Amino acid sequence: MNTRGFLDAHIHLWEFCLFSSFANLAGVSCQEELISILKARPIESWLVGVRFNQESTKEKSMPDRCFLDKAFGQVPVVIFRTCLHLVVANTTAMEKLGRRSENGFFYEADVFAILNQLPALLRIQPEIIVRNGMAKLERLEIKKAIDMGMDFNRRSFFDEVLFYTTDMRLLNEALGFKLFLDGSLGARTAALIDEYSDDPGNYGFLNYSDDELLAIVKKVHRVGKPVACHAIGDRAVDQFIRVIKKSRHPQDRLEHVQYLRPDQIDTLAEAGIAVCIQPIFSRELTWARARLGPERIKTAYAWGLLRDRGVRLLAGSDAPVDEASPYEAARTVASLDYEHRLSYDEVLNLYAQANWEFYGWQPSWFLE
Ligand SMILES: [Zn+2]
Repeated sequence: MNTRGFLDAHIHLWEFCLFSSFANLAGVSCQEELISILKARPIESWLVGVRFNQESTKEKSMPDRCFLDKAFGQVPVVIFRTCLHLVVANTTAMEKLGRRSENGFFYEADVFAILNQLPALLRIQPEIIVRNGMAKLERLEIKKAIDMGMDFNRRSFFDEVLFYTTDMRLLNEALGFKLFLDGSLGARTAALIDEYSDDPGNYGFLNYSDDELLAIVKKVHRVGKPVACHAIGDRAVDQFIRVIKKSRHPQDRLEHVQYLRPDQIDTLAEAGIAVCIQPIFSRELTWARARLGPERIKTAYAWGLLRDRGVRLLAGSDAPVDEASPYEAARTVASLDYEHRLSYDEVLNLYAQANWEFYGWQPSWFLE
């Protein structure tokens, strides 16, 4: 296939660029390999690895402080789990980070805090991180990428980049405003109408009341900007639909939507609301079934059903949560044994055409 020029409509550029500077542990299959890959890529004497998943290793266990101390001695080591909900550090690294935990594990907000301490400790220049990351996007044939969480303090590193923001101070320069309505299926925090099949009594949670959400959405719309709302469970999608009926911008977007009920799919199609999917998240079908149960899973990750019912689809990688490559996403989707999957070319066309059209931009391959 020729170079088409992709537009990634949902990426986290700073984190993507930062991750590109560290050892990629995604393919690691045993602890011995983990050690050798990390040792091969020191930065200022630190060893930092990202995208590690113990489930893909033969040992199936997350290395802890003791293991790392034994394997690396006084060299500071930090390993990020692929989900970004967990990071592990050895004793030397914890000393330098000014943090302490018995087994070396840190969770949730601490993961991002540690990630953002690293550039200074490793003496890597933000400009160089960004340049390397953007070069990597170029190699993946991604000609344009929309950042979904531009940070006020890093705005200056991303001159040309188009972005959504969660910071009202950046709204005037942004394409729109990003809101998180719920959590994730993995962490069982996505908001569902019916309880989690593998956690009775748990329905996930919503971050806002309808009134709170409507107030923010109206404020954004008033300055002529759209919103992009992260909504993974059906209860979050219901809330989005209720609120958007009261205040609407033609470019409002819904992000992720791993699980939708059939009635919601029709409502989104009728309302002409664009849904930005992450085709590569279809990989989650292997474990999402346990969360949702046999009934709900039938319309989960059902991108082909959304297409059939007339929902306008956009695509993004959500990298570095998962792989940025549109080809990898297309391969993942095409290899599924699932009636509602999209084809390989359909996935690539979302990146090569649908995304560009939504913003009224000329796809870059027309220009070449
Ligand atoms: Zn995201």
